[in-house]
Amino acid sequence: MDAIFDLRNISYSYVGKIDALKDISLKIKQGERVSIIGSNGSGKSTLLAILNGLVYPTTGEFYAFDNQITEEVFDAVKDNDFRTYFRTKVGFVFQNSDVQLFMPTVYEEIAFGPLQLKIPLQDVKARVEDMLEIMGIAKLRDRSPHTLSGGEKKKVSIASVLVNNPDVLLLDEPSAGLDPRTQLWLVELLQELGEAGKTVIVATHDLEIIEMISDRAIVMGEDHRIKEDARTKDVLSDFELLMASNLIHEHMHIHGKLVHEHLHAHKKDHSHMHVV
Ligand code: ADP
Ligand code: MG
Repeated sequence: MDAIFDLRNISYSYVGKIDALKDISLKIKQGERVSIIGSNGSGKSTLLAILNGLVYPTTGEFYAFDNQITEEVFDAVKDNDFRTYFRTKVGFVFQNSDVQLFMPTVYEEIAFGPLQLKIPLQDVKARVEDMLEIMGIAKLRDRSPHTLSGGEKKKVSIASVLVNNPDVLLLDEPSAGLDPRTQLWLVELLQELGEAGKTVIVATHDLEIIEMISDRAIVMGEDHRIKEDARTKDVLSDFELLMASNLIHEHMHIHGKLVHEHLHAHKKDHSHMHVV
C-alpha cells in the first residue's frame, strides 16, 4: 500500500454554503509526520474531520486504506467491517477535551474504547494500567474527567485514544492552552510516536512546535486552498508565505526555532517579545 490517505480534489462546505475546503488534493503515507497549519478558519479542523471520516467531501473523493470513504460506507447503523477496521487504525484527539470525555472516571474513560472493541477484560485492564503509567496520570484514575485541569484532560484524552493502539493519530490543536512543561511533554510524546512508526497528523497554528513534530507541513490559505505542501523547515523559512497565510505578521521574524515579535519601530529600545 502506497498512501494510506488519498484526497482527490476535495471541497467541503457547511450547510451547502460556508466554504471550509476548496480543491484539496494530497496523499499521506504510513509513518509520515505532518503538520497542517493555517490561520483561524482556514479549514484545518475540517480537513482533520474528513481524514477521520466524521464528515464527507461535498465534492471530490477521499480514499483511506484503498477504500473510498462515503456516507454509505460509514453509515453508523449498519455493521461494516471496513468501518471497524478504520476505527481501530485511526485515532482522533479533539481540540476541546470536553467533547471527548464523557465517562464518570478517568479509568472508565480510558477503558471505554478497548471494551467497545470487545477486547478481553483482563487485557483491557492491563492496557489501561499501562496507559495510566505511561501518561503519568495514575493518581487521577478515580477522578471525574470533567473536574480535571486542561492539561490533565488533554492527557486523559490522548490516553483514551492511544490505548486502542492506532497506527494513525490525528490531533487538533493539541498544544493549545497547555503550560510550557505539559507542552514539552506533548512534543516528546509525539516524537516518540513518530519514531515508533505511527502516522502523526497535527493541525496547529503553533509554529514553535511544528519543526519538532513534523517533517512535512501543509499550509492552508485563507481561501481554504492548500497554499504550500513542503518540508517543514522550508515552510518555516518562507517569511512571505507565513505572512501571506496570516501565520505571522510584519513585526515578527524567525530566529532559528524562535518566533520573535518586534515591538513597533517607534520604540527605541528595539526590544524583542517572545510570542510563543
Ligand atoms: P480552522 O480549524 O482552520 O480554524 P475550520 O475547519 O474550523 O478552520 O473552519 C473552516 C471554515 O468553516 C470557517 O469559515 C468556519 O467558520 C467554517 N465552519 C467550521 N465549522 C462550522 C460549522 N459547524 N458550521 C458552519 N461553518 C463552520
Ligand atoms: Mg480548528
